[in-house]
Amino acid sequence: MEPFQFSQAKTINSALEAGRSQTETKFVAGGTTLIDLMKLNVETPKRVVDINSLPLAQIESTPDGGLKIGAMVRNSDLAHDQTVQQRYTVLSEALLSGASPQLRNMATTGGNLLQRTRCYYFRGTAYPCNKREPGSGCAAIDGFNRIHAILGTSEHCIATHPSDMAVAMMALEAVVHIQGANGERSVPVNDFYLLPESTPNRENVLAPGDLITYVTLPSLASSTRSHYLKLRDRASYEFALASAAVVVSLNGNQIQRVRIALGGVGTKPWRSTEAEHALEGREANQNNFRAAAEAALKGAEPRHDNAFKVELAKRCLTRTLTNVTQPA
Ligand code: SF4
Repeated sequence: MEPFQFSQAKTINSALEAGRSQTETKFVAGGTTLIDLMKLNVETPKRVVDINSLPLAQIESTPDGGLKIGAMVRNSDLAHDQTVQQRYTVLSEALLSGASPQLRNMATTGGNLLQRTRCYYFRGTAYPCNKREPGSGCAAIDGFNRIHAILGTSEHCIATHPSDMAVAMMALEAVVHIQGANGERSVPVNDFYLLPESTPNRENVLAPGDLITYVTLPSLASSTRSHYLKLRDRASYEFALASAAVVVSLNGNQIQRVRIALGGVGTKPWRSTEAEHALEGREANQNNFRAAAEAALKGAEPRHDNAFKVELAKRCLTRTLTNVTQPA
């Protein structure tokens, strides 16, 4: 690990000030991604600012019936929050499918959004990696790429985004609230993440020194149902090969409104408006679910080792839709 300066911020303003004062500053909360990557010399910040004391650990209802989640809310607290379990079930299920209880006790809402890829070559500094070292190449494209993405890839990077929570937030149409040098701004989570294109080192719209302060979820009709299903190599403590998050409103057996996101297959948490359009106004049945899954994966570009993900993701989405639309 490279040497770095360490400080603790007690207020949001002091954190922002510390973030502004040096470009290579990282905020640390649970540390479940950053510390790992610092030990591997993948992340080498000159300065680390501990933000665990910031007053951002509340979960509150908003006046419009939505939910405001502080960036420092631990994943375990969010997963077990009664309102989240009852009204935003997909989010609770996604959180509980990720990592281990110990990691969920440490990991935070803001940090989870900023998880970095599990691409082996990104984490191994002996390999070329455009995400870690822009312009060096991509060892995964002609290497072993079983866990890599099939949607949203570029000739510069095919790494998947690893978060389960962010996939659920994509289907819930969450909004990320940010404070930075130019004040506060709010970004829909679908716009928060960037495709790799020619700059895979830029994963989201945060500027140096920006701090995620909270995330808001919109109000959902009481009849809304939601579900997260994750498929992986082993039953726990494993990243998704394919996952699906569905938020749906039914009128009888007709799908009125549906929001769909996929995990484990995209270079960012993958919202599929194609699948949503294929389902809205239609009957909830297997033929329509399969048609939606075909639409979601239509643009897939598999590589040498990950072609199985195309059918896996289709079946994952079909099963998730089946589960969530079953009569109560
Ligand atoms: Fe790096 Fe992306 Fe290639 Fe992995 S897929 S080696 S993260 S550039």
